[in-house]
Formats: sequence, C-alpha cells, structure tokens
Amino acid sequence: MSVESSVAAFLARKHGLLINGEWRTPVSGQYSNVYNPADGTVVAQVAEGNAADADLAIAAAHAAHVDGRWRNLTPVMRERILLKYADLVEQHADELAQMETIEQGKSILIARHVEVGGSIDFMRYAAGLTTKLVGSSFESSIPTPPGKRATAFTRREPVGVVAAIAPWNFPLSIALWKIMPALAAGNTLVLKPAEITPLTALRLGELALEAGVPPGVFNVITGKGSVAGTAMTSSKLVGKITFTGSTPVGKIIGRAAIENMTRVSLELGGKNPSIVLKDADIDLTVDGLLLGAFFNNGQVCAACSRAYIEAPIYDKIVAALEAAVKGMSVGPGMDPSAQVNPVVSKMQQNSVRDFLSDAMDKKAELIQGADGPNPNGYYVRPTLVINPNADIKLVREEVFGPVLALARVADAEEAIRLANDTDMGLAASLFTQDLSATMNLIPRIEAGTVWVNTHVPLDPAMPFGGYKQSGTGRDFGPRWLESFTEEKSVCIVY
Ligand code: NAD
Repeated sequence: MSVESSVAAFLARKHGLLINGEWRTPVSGQYSNVYNPADGTVVAQVAEGNAADADLAIAAAHAAHVDGRWRNLTPVMRERILLKYADLVEQHADELAQMETIEQGKSILIARHVEVGGSIDFMRYAAGLTTKLVGSSFESSIPTPPGKRATAFTRREPVGVVAAIAPWNFPLSIALWKIMPALAAGNTLVLKPAEITPLTALRLGELALEAGVPPGVFNVITGKGSVAGTAMTSSKLVGKITFTGSTPVGKIIGRAAIENMTRVSLELGGKNPSIVLKDADIDLTVDGLLLGAFFNNGQVCAACSRAYIEAPIYDKIVAALEAAVKGMSVGPGMDPSAQVNPVVSKMQQNSVRDFLSDAMDKKAELIQGADGPNPNGYYVRPTLVINPNADIKLVREEVFGPVLALARVADAEEAIRLANDTDMGLAASLFTQDLSATMNLIPRIEAGTVWVNTHVPLDPAMPFGGYKQSGTGRDFGPRWLESFTEEKSVCIVY
C-alpha cells in the first residue's frame, strides 16, 4: 500500500510542540527520531521536550482554565465542537491510520477500522456526555433561624489542567480516551504521547484547533517520560493526571500524585487469563483465543496471555491453535494481508525474545509461526507455549507480544485458582455454553472486565479498568466524565 501524499508531507515536517495553539521549538533545541518498526528506518523527527517545555505547556493550559475560554462555553457549544472534532478525525481517518501503522507497526486494517474507526465512536460517546453531567439537589436538614429554610445541591466542576500520559500500543485511541473526557468535562489539558509513537497525537492537536477548541486548551508535548512526564506529574498547577502504561511507571506516578494530592487515574498492565470449560464451542473458543492473544501483535493491555483449558478438550484446542499459528502470514503493517506484524520497537522485540529464551532455557515446548520478512524489522514469531512450568517468567509477567501460554487443567476449580493467582486484574475471559457455570464463575474472577465466548473487544458504554495492580479508576461508560470533575456541595439558606 502506498503512503498518502498528506502523510508523506506530515512525516517530512520537523515537529515542534503544540503550546497555546502554536508550534514551538523545544527549549533545548533538540529533536529525536521516530522509527518504522517494519524496517527500522527513521520516518520523522519530533521535538525532545524537557521539563521547561512541560512547564510552558502546563502554564498555557492553566491560563486557559483560569480565563474560562473553554469551561465557560455552554455544554451544548462544547459538545458541538467535540462532535465536529470527531467528524474531522473521520474525514482524516485514512491519513491517521497510515501514520499509526508507520510509527507503531500494526496492521493497516487494525489501524483504519479499530484504532481510528473505533475511536470515532468513543469520541462521539464522550462528546454526548458533555451535556449530561449532572449534580443532585436535596432539602438540607441544617438548623436555620426561624422563618428561614435551607436547600442544597451539588455541581460537577472541571478539575482544571489535566496531564494526560499515553502509551505506545494504541497511541491514537488511548490519547483520545483522555482528550475527550477531559475536554467534555470542561478541563484544559497537556497530552504527552509515548516517545516512540508521537505522530498521531500531534495531528490530533492540530485537528482539535481546526474543530474550534480554543488555543491553549489542548496542548501536546513530546519527550521522554522520565523528563517531560516527571515534570507533568509533579506540577502543582495540574488538577488531574490520567495515565495509561505499565504498572511500574504507574506506581511512580501514583506516588508523585499523592505528594500534591493531584487526582489520578491509572490504567495499567495485565496478565489476563482465559478459562475454557469442557463444553465450550470449539470454533468460538479458537477464534476468541486467537483474537485475544494475537490482535495488535499481542500488544494489548487486556490481551489473553494464558489459557486454562479443561482436559477433555485441551488437545483439540491446541491442535486448532497450532494450525492457525503456523499458517499466519507475517509481514509489514502496510501489507493488509499480513496477519502478524512487527512489534513496536527494537527494545520490545528484545524483551519478548528474552521471555521466549527463558522459556526455552527451562525446556518449555514452543510452537511457533513464521519469522518476519525483513531482518531489520522488529518481528517476533507468533508463539504458543505448551503447558509451561510455574517457574517460567512468561507465566507470571506481562509479555506484550504475540505469545500465548496454554495449560491443561482438571476442572473449573483449578482454572479459577490459577487464573486469580496473579497481582494483576485487568481482564479475563470464559469460554463455555453453560449458563449456570458462567453466572457462578463471573463473580469469582478477579478482573475489571470479563468476556464470555470472546476476548478483547471494547465498547464505549462498558466501563474499563483494573482490579488489583492493574490500576485505579474506570474509563468509558455513562460516568466516564466524573473522575475529570470535582464535586462541589452548595448549601443555601434563604
Ligand atoms: P510505559 O509505562 O513505559 O510508558 C507509558 C507512558 O508513560 C509513556 O508516555 C512514557 O513516556 C511515560 N512515562 C514513562 N516514565 C514516566 C515517568 N517517570 N513519569 C511520567 N511519565 C512517564 O508504558 P508503555 O510501554 O508505553 O505501554 C505498555 C504498557 O501500558 C503495558 O504495561 C500495558 O499493559 C499498559 N497499557 C494499559 C492499558 C489499560 O487501559 N489498562 C492500555 C494500554 C496499555
């Protein structure tokens, strides 16, 4: 597939930082490279924002909050601008999808139809919530002087400046999952994409301006998490941090947030299990496990990374998965026929390969598909790990690559015990046709989302977030905006 001329022109620009509606050069004057995971070539250069740049962006967002240029618009006006923003993303969907594939490595089909196409639905859902933020009113029981009464109500107010920090696996979707509720609730924000996938975030900043979001309301800075990110999470001018990324970084950010009592939501990693009962529909199960484990090359926080399969159907499921994995075509994301694509970076490729070396060193049985066509690309072979021992690292740690561990279990009790034996609790799935088993097992699974007979699809109306060390807070659903607001109680004596 050839690159659109608008994408080529965008890549050729020397990208600055979007602060107060203008492109600024970074204070340090330094730029960093963006690489194409399919062949390791440099595709663009972006500003290396540092703490001084982060402070400038936060100051611009703070000034925009204080003067009320966004929060004082009526909800209907803000909703209209945000719906126009969704329309613009839709009009530029092909261009944004190509940028995503070029910087992230994923299939152009996933980029176009899921990352960009799906995000437009989430945008419109969040935009619609702009006009649905409500408080409550009630009679107060406080004592009042004779002849007076008291009444009370609550109002939802924006928290102020939102610091939004996004990861590299779904750079555009996850950025929008932060931009939209922050703006819908009347906040201003500073977005920092992951250093290796900054391009679509920059374009989203431009499109927001075009939609009518006033300058300074939405700022984008690129740069290292340990530098620009740290400055964002330690600023007293920030009212809320919304972070999606790894659990170790989430813990650093949580500690920084508590220092200033900054509101914080953390969407972190997973070690997500699937439980397959003996009555499961084989085709639905195989499709569900393949989607769960290999979608986006396994770089999904909710990915299924370990399946516990009841003994009577274990061999049948493994045989079907083996045939599928060995038949997968591996190639660059820009080739729509390639089912497995490179992972995002050399570092991520090495990390996944280290997990596989550890498994091989410990004599695990691996079933692998094809390697990538280009040795300079960051390919990892799609892999099944058969009945691994508990001492193999990939059984307990998040791999974030195209790797699925399969274990034979005696019954549902053993499956649920192993499924819950983890510090993580983001998501899980259950494959069965048995309604009683389904309803009895769902409450026992320690995870924020449980799919039955599928694994991975998200819906804007379904709240999403983690139990245990997979995070705090929930994205999506009808109450999505609440964590981007403060609740104020008002009591009036009259
Ligand atoms: P990461 O934690 O390395 O980085 C995420 C972001 O944090 C990046 O923008 C990075 O620059 C920034 N950052 C790094 N150190 C920082 C610091 N000290 N202070 C402030 N910011 C800092 O994560 P990643 O490797 O980009 O993404 C993969 C991880 O994200 C996986 O663990 C995955 O499970 C998780 N994830 C979770 C969800 C979810 O909704 N729960 C969704 C997608 C990804």
